[in-house]
Amino acid sequence: MTGQGHDIAEAIARYHAELDPLGVALVAVSKFHPVESVEAAYGAGQRIFGESRAQELTAKAPALPDDVAWHFIGHLQTNKVRQVVGRATLIQSVDSLRLLDAIDADARRQGVTARVLMQVHVAAEETKTGFSTEELYDYFGNERHASLTNTHLCGMMAMATNTDDMRRVEADFRQARAAFDRIREWGGLRGFDTLSMGMSHDYRLAVECGSTMVRIGTDIFGEREY
Ligand SMILES: *Cc1c(COP(=O)(O)O)cnc(C)c1O
Repeated sequence: MTGQGHDIAEAIARYHAELDPLGVALVAVSKFHPVESVEAAYGAGQRIFGESRAQELTAKAPALPDDVAWHFIGHLQTNKVRQVVGRATLIQSVDSLRLLDAIDADARRQGVTARVLMQVHVAAEETKTGFSTEELYDYFGNERHASLTNTHLCGMMAMATNTDDMRRVEADFRQARAAFDRIREWGGLRGFDTLSMGMSHDYRLAVECGSTMVRIGTDIFGEREY
């Protein structure tokens, strides 16, 4: 599948026809796919790409035109922060306060503003990545974000439970949307307007549940070869 430009272009066109009228942004998740695949999507008009590893982002970004917006969507180790801040237009996967502080400090050092999403944990899985909704309420309710100097909190990213039980997936998405709405209602958070949720197999449901941004890899680029 990988590298077949016409398939990729067709998928990009199909997704934009479906999502643009709804005002839902498309992140084409290009991780583990070659630059040629990204170029095929770019040629079809796609401008937002998602990568999950600092080193892959660093290698790919210079090969694509400057108007590409790179989103970082993987677990980011604090020692890789400086490779990503200043290069990614949005870091979607902030999963700890330690990481958030490291991003803010590095953005200050570079004299840039980092744009980030807080990754919220709503899935039933044992391996919990991200903040619980309670942790986010505590963080924002106590205005702890006020201490950030060079970071713009743009919203939240969520992943549903990895299951075929679509009722479970829907419950996860609805919980994420409810948390997003609650945090926004507290006010004082200008530009907190992005809720990134939905992947190849569950994006339609995510959009029904109030997603404003979907992250699609496999369905655009084919299976990944790890
Ligand atoms: C890989 C990845 C995706 C894309 O998943 P597909 O099932 O290939 O669409 C979306 N979001 C995150 C956080 C990912 O790591």
